[in-house]
Amino acid sequence: MSKKLRMGMVGGGPGAFIGPVHKMAAELDGKIQLVAGAFSQSPERSRAAGASFGIDPARAYASYAEMFEAESKREDGIDFVVIATPNNLHLPVAEAALAAGIAVMSDKPATATFDEVLRLKAVVAKAGLPYGLTHTYAGYSLVREARALCASGNLGLIRKVAVEYLQGWLSRPIESAGQKQAAWRSDPALNGPGGCIGDIGTHAFHLTEYVTGLKVTSLNAALRSVVPGRRLDDDCNALLRLNNGASGVLMASQVAAGERNGIRLRVYGEEGSIDWRQEDPNQLSVKWLDRPEEIRHAAGSYLSSDALTVTRLPSGHPEGYIEAFAVLYREFADGLCAFKAGNANPLPATLPGIEAGVRGMRFIERAIESSRTENWVEF
Ligand code: NAD
Repeated sequence: MSKKLRMGMVGGGPGAFIGPVHKMAAELDGKIQLVAGAFSQSPERSRAAGASFGIDPARAYASYAEMFEAESKREDGIDFVVIATPNNLHLPVAEAALAAGIAVMSDKPATATFDEVLRLKAVVAKAGLPYGLTHTYAGYSLVREARALCASGNLGLIRKVAVEYLQGWLSRPIESAGQKQAAWRSDPALNGPGGCIGDIGTHAFHLTEYVTGLKVTSLNAALRSVVPGRRLDDDCNALLRLNNGASGVLMASQVAAGERNGIRLRVYGEEGSIDWRQEDPNQLSVKWLDRPEEIRHAAGSYLSSDALTVTRLPSGHPEGYIEAFAVLYREFADGLCAFKAGNANPLPATLPGIEAGVRGMRFIERAIESSRTENWVEF
């Protein structure tokens, strides 16, 4: 590729969490450059963020509508936009971008509600442009290894999945003290109806289906708001049934005091099992019924090609969150280049897209319904 793909960003203004992470990850492989943005709903703050990112001041826009209009007229306009705003803007920003002929890389969840994601799916199909969804954990090399191991059949029939995503940062009502990330996440109008279940439960759900290759067919969930006055759930437990007869347990909480970003996935087959933890992502435990446990290390020469193709560093040099994010960006960038070269359907199955977005939003909607009715619900 002779020149870099040009990226615009919506969100990622001063003090934002994930916008700057997107920039770092997108630019890591030298295939993408951030050149424009509507970084905040405040024009001054958008300009300030643009300056901090070192982009041309004329391309730090006051709104995303203005950005799409101006950029679609430029010879060197943006090739795609990344959406890193609160959830209520994911649909309108994606729609506006696709209408302007601009591809989309969106952060999760795909939209704020299930109805919205159905609309987005139709808009993506009509536009025919690449759409990627940053379920970050899908980018870790050992998650790819776990996925390849499940697909190989070596674990035997999958019988049970235990997935958890535990955080403690919402253990107190910090949204009432104006904590930025907590404030919109606990406001149904900005976040959508699923609190913890939408924010991190969707990651756990995605990881389950992504690694096992199975689909959840029904679930029984209990969602609670533990912190007094909180308007959305902050603690969730769900029982899952999967399409091969396996069962699952999914636990997501943002009031698990002391936990930081505790994602753990265990998958049990007839012959063996895997255990991966995001806070120690460079090793994967593989346990066997009749032989000793294996610890597979990132970049080990014995890993699957699926894992090794997304590995950048030799064994013992830890890769982490930014690199995992960057794997998704590399796949998106290669896909977008192939699209520009005439391939109508260029994104690899390893990169989450609109189908994963629809599954995630359905999961939130079903979990809320199950919790409300205190019953099992079909997916
Ligand atoms: P944040 O509050 O830190 O940042 C949101 C940014 O959006 C802010 O800069 C805000 O000014 C900006 N914004 C709001 N309205 C805007 C508008 N109209 N135009 C332009 N910018 C606007 O939130 P965050 O924690 O960075 O989360 C953002 C999104 O990323 C959420 O959807 C969240 O679910 C997702 N997220 C994903 C991951 C992951 O691992 N993939 C991690 C964290 C957050």
